[in-house]
Amino acid sequence: HGDEPIVSIRNLRAGYGRVPVVHGVDLDLRPGQVVALLGPNGAGKTTTLRAIAGQIPTVAGDILFDGVRTRAPLHRRVRLGMAYIPESRAVFRTLSCRDNLRLGSSGLSAALAMFPQLAERLDVPGGLLSGGEQQMVGLARALSRKPDLIIADELSLGLAPLVVDTLLAAIRSAADEGAAVLLVEQHVRKALTVSDFAYVMRRGSIELSGTSAELLERVDDIERTYLSLA
Ligand code: ATP
Repeated sequence: HGDEPIVSIRNLRAGYGRVPVVHGVDLDLRPGQVVALLGPNGAGKTTTLRAIAGQIPTVAGDILFDGVRTRAPLHRRVRLGMAYIPESRAVFRTLSCRDNLRLGSSGLSAALAMFPQLAERLDVPGGLLSGGEQQMVGLARALSRKPDLIIADELSLGLAPLVVDTLLAAIRSAADEGAAVLLVEQHVRKALTVSDFAYVMRRGSIELSGTSAELLERVDDIERTYLSLA
């Protein structure tokens, strides 16, 4: 029930071909919680997310979904209730905003309840929406299926701070309704404010973890020590 992880990662190793990138990561995701995965560029955050989502194979270690070890590919994990939101924005450029939103199972009204600002943009082709609007469309489509597990990679890349807040608020609401969320986010303070627990990754390993409240108290130190590229 509430405290049991929906996903547990044990000693995860993953990479590309023979190039190891993730060197033994442990991580737990629980229903109702947002977990932030922080770290400098190239730390292996995206690779960790891809492995958990089933987009790339694991080299070693276990990924447990509801306590059961899985090697299922991405499409099967999606059918089991996972939403994976990769860095690239997933809108159909020639379809209108309205038609993009209708592709989601619960469709237009749920999307507009989540992001009311899309109401006046419904006739605009997906490709002409702003970056933030495109991300809202993609997120609305993913969240309208009411996934149990949400894996989101840098939702806010290149977006204005207010838009970032809007996207993160939608992620928080999904967790408050019971989803388990794993979030990679460059805005460290925003990530720690919206999340319950956080892991800091560097050079393929978790170097630090704690409640987001604890980490927020020493965020300057964490940025200096773990998040600068040097
Ligand atoms: P960023 O914020 O830059 O995306 P990240 O922490 O998500 O950083 P990853 O994208 O997981 O890091 O990349 C970790 C390492 O894996 C990097 O050295 C990168 O060059 C390498 N890498 C990423 N994707 C591939 C790929 N498709 N093939 C080979 N190497 C890759």
